[in-house]
Parts: sequence; C-alpha cells; structure tokens
Amino acid sequence: MSKKVIILGSSGSIGQNAVQVCQHLGYTVVGLAVGSDTETLKKQIELVSPEYVAVHDEEAALKLQKEVSCTVLVGEEGVCELAQLSADIVVAAIVGTKGIRPVFAALEQGTDVALANKEALVSAGALMMQKAKMKNARIIPIDSEHSALLQCQVGEQKNHIHSLTLTASGGPFLHSSQKQLEQATIDDALNHPTWRMGVKNTIDSSTLMNKGLEVIEAHHLFDLPLEQINVVVHPQSLIHSFVTFVDGSSKAQISPNDMRIPIQYALTFPDRAPGLIQPLNFSQLSTLEFYPPDMDRFPCLQLALHSINEGGSMPCFMNAVNEVLVGQFVQRKIGWIDIGRKLEKLMQGHNSTPLEDIEHVLSIDTDARTRAAEE
Ligand code: MG
Repeated sequence: MSKKVIILGSSGSIGQNAVQVCQHLGYTVVGLAVGSDTETLKKQIELVSPEYVAVHDEEAALKLQKEVSCTVLVGEEGVCELAQLSADIVVAAIVGTKGIRPVFAALEQGTDVALANKEALVSAGALMMQKAKMKNARIIPIDSEHSALLQCQVGEQKNHIHSLTLTASGGPFLHSSQKQLEQATIDDALNHPTWRMGVKNTIDSSTLMNKGLEVIEAHHLFDLPLEQINVVVHPQSLIHSFVTFVDGSSKAQISPNDMRIPIQYALTFPDRAPGLIQPLNFSQLSTLEFYPPDMDRFPCLQLALHSINEGGSMPCFMNAVNEVLVGQFVQRKIGWIDIGRKLEKLMQGHNSTPLEDIEHVLSIDTDARTRAAEE
C-alpha cells in the first residue's frame, strides 16, 4: 500500500534518509519542512515534487517562494500548518525543542507520527502520549533502540514483559580515562565509532546523555516504570535493544547500524517491505560484547535517570540545559567534562513542578536556556 508522507526536518540526517526511503518504497511525499537549509530542500523538491514545503527561517522562506513552484509555508506557523496537511504519517525529525509544536500539530490532526525528535518525548512525554491517545494517533519510534523494542514486542502481551534493555555503543570515550575525558576535544567527541548522525546526537552519545534521553523516551512510549528499563553498553551497535519476558526469555533485534532500517520500519509498520540495506552476514560476525555503563565517568546518564524520578518539569529543564551546554561545547566555550558538571549544578537549582500544557513546557524550556546561558 502506498502512503502519503510529510517529512519535518528533511534536510537533516534522518530527514535525508527518510526522503530516500520514501522514494524506495514508492510513497508520496506531500510536504517537506526545513529550518533554513533551502539548498538541500530545493534538491529534494526536484526529487519528490511535494505540493507543499515549509521553511522555519522567514527570510529564507520568502526567498524560496520566488524560486520554486510548490507552495512555500513560512515560519514556525508554516511548519505547524504543513504538519497538519492530510497525510498517513508525519516523520518528525526536527532536532531539539523546535520540533515540539509541529509534533503536537500533527497529533492534533490525528495523524500518525514517526518520531525521531526525542526531545519532544523527553520534555513533554506525558502530554504527548495523552494527546496521541485522545486523537487516536500512533507514535511510532524511529530511534533505532525504540524501533528494536517495538519490533520485539509485536505479538506479545504487555503484562508478560519483565524488562527492556537499551543498548548503548558507549561512544568514542568508552575506554577513556578521567584524565583523557578532561582533555577531550570536539573532534574527539564527534568521532563516533559506529553511527553517522547529526552533531547534537553525536555529542549526546559521547556523554551518554543520548542513552538517558532514550530511557525517558522508552518510559513514555512503552508506559513502563524506570525500574523495568536497563542500559547495557554494546560497542558493536548491532543488537539495537532487548525485551525480556517474565518466563526468562529475551528477544533482541539485530541489524546493520543504518538508520534507513528503523525509518523504513516506522513508515511501513506494522507491515514490512524489502529494504535498501544488505542484511547482516552472521557467519562473519565474530564478537558481540556487553558491559554495564559507567555512571561515574558518564554522569549525564545518571542525571537523566534522576530527572525522570523527579518527574514534572525536570526532564524538560534538563533537556533544554543540555542542549545549550552541548552548543557551548561545540563552539569551544566549555570543555566536554563541563557538560555533566554544569548540568548537575543547574538541575540542583530547579524545583520541579507538574507540567500543565505545551505552553508551560515551552516556558520551562526558555527559562532553562536562560539559566544555562548565564552559568
Ligand atoms: Mg538511538
């Protein structure tokens, strides 16, 4: 069956792969949205001829209107409008808090969302799951770990689940000493051993914050308490996660580390279709390693788990502060080790409150950014 797809954040790493997967599946792309990268967008317009596009940056949007024949929607409002066009599924691949409003706009319309924007679920998870339920829309994960957890749960009953185990590559600093971590540079942090991803995600992987955010994601998506969600370091990144059942059996999902696989699964779910990637050749796999994560060298993971125990606004606050600190590290204003240190200090100064609505989420987010910038 062909589907109509909208891709939010189409110029990013997930977005570009999603365009490719849609072409491969013969799905119709009805809308594309970018932040400001209209050069990539123009190439994508030629490839998939969407009826509508949206550009968050207003100046770039107005300039593009003169250059293309499809309808160009302008600004954040334009991106939300695009998310509400008639479609079977919206790929939400905008990085960071900017992605939250458009995800809610799509859910409001009752459209299924293939979610790559983990920040939306971390900052506003309870509200988002509520909204999806109310509008009868599905949130299908694109994140490889959550795609694995979903695939392992097909045909199973929730009350038979003992626990979920997310795998983490461990990032480029898996075997680094404390002294090496103190001197880690941006180039070291960007040198991820197994995955090619955007900058924010790659830095978060180096601090293990990425895994912390993913535990929070799993908690909301699969409605399980923190006590039933584990993390294990698996440097080969081939097993993408495990589900363990009450009888002692575990299921794992294993595939090459290429995001086009989970993207395609999210788009075809619950069906499957021939893929773009060669399956693994198991006779050539020699080693699969597993280690417990080291929370002392990687405090960001511990802080993320702590944030979910605090609940309310704390995960949102933590996520926004982390985004600012990662930005400062990328601009070489702070060291790698400062990300965890400053995050801990700022979280100690935040009193968590229950989240009322999306506006409240965004105000906590803004406040967190101001505090992080002042620190
Ligand atoms: Mg992931």
